[in-house]
Amino acid sequence: MTTAYITHEDCLLHNMGPDHPESPVRLQAIRKVLERTGLMDHMDQLTAVPATAEQIQLAHAKLHQKKLEMKLPREGVVYTDEDTALCPHSLDAAHLAVGGVILATNRVLSGKAQNAFCAVRPPGHHAEYNLPMGFCFYNNVAIGACHALLQEGIERVAVLDFDVHHCNGTVDIFKDRPEVLVCSTFQYPYYPERYCEIERPNIVNCPIAAHSDNLVFRKAIEECWLPALEAHKPDIIFISAGFDAHKEDPMADLNLDEEDYRWVTQQIMQMAEKHSQKRIVSVLEGGYNPVALAFSVQAHLEVLAGF
Ligand SMILES: [Zn+2]
Repeated sequence: MTTAYITHEDCLLHNMGPDHPESPVRLQAIRKVLERTGLMDHMDQLTAVPATAEQIQLAHAKLHQKKLEMKLPREGVVYTDEDTALCPHSLDAAHLAVGGVILATNRVLSGKAQNAFCAVRPPGHHAEYNLPMGFCFYNNVAIGACHALLQEGIERVAVLDFDVHHCNGTVDIFKDRPEVLVCSTFQYPYYPERYCEIERPNIVNCPIAAHSDNLVFRKAIEECWLPALEAHKPDIIFISAGFDAHKEDPMADLNLDEEDYRWVTQQIMQMAEKHSQKRIVSVLEGGYNPVALAFSVQAHLEVLAGF
């Protein structure tokens, strides 16, 4: 069985300016490392196709989409919040990011791939039902999860988020949908400070103090995520794979490294094997030191691809 690697070169065209950390360099760095190590040759490389408006509306208000389309500039950039901007190509990239996750979901559910990684941007997990935020316009992983739930035989899904930032958007979208388990580890107190303290049976929030060592992260996975997954028994697992909790990431203050990302991927693989027919769709979120990001993605993919 194969691991699908899904991307599109136009995801590089979303550009919020030369000094913005969420830059096209991130995807270029990942590709370079995967090609140099030969790992890319072991994956089924697929090109994303743009999502339709109807697919985006599985997780977002029609108005949300309309507002973004109306704001899209013909040149330069237009800010939707203090650190999120649209350039003329941003929504094309955003449609491809969502479409990539839908393609990944279809490949995995049809059995053409055992699992999939979507190297896409803009990221998605801060985008709420009716709000773009934190470098995110559409919640790629949430739309993929909604799409999966429409398919025959898929009754429960899980979204696991190890990005250093809390997935407020994913929680907003799924807080009243008990068929979706959302587990998140995140630095706290820290951005985005929304939904971090929500109490719902299907929301597993694991706040981690700044400067904690990697054992605190691993303990949160073992004591909170894994029992929740055992109870939920998802038919497919989605991963919001952000790598900005890396010790060399400039954005935050947790201390993970490549071996922690390898370890957490192994834990998720074991759960997927037990409950989810090995089905995993992993979607890139954050990670702002391009070198640390690329090597972390490599470790994550080595596990997914069975190395
Ligand atoms: Zn992040």
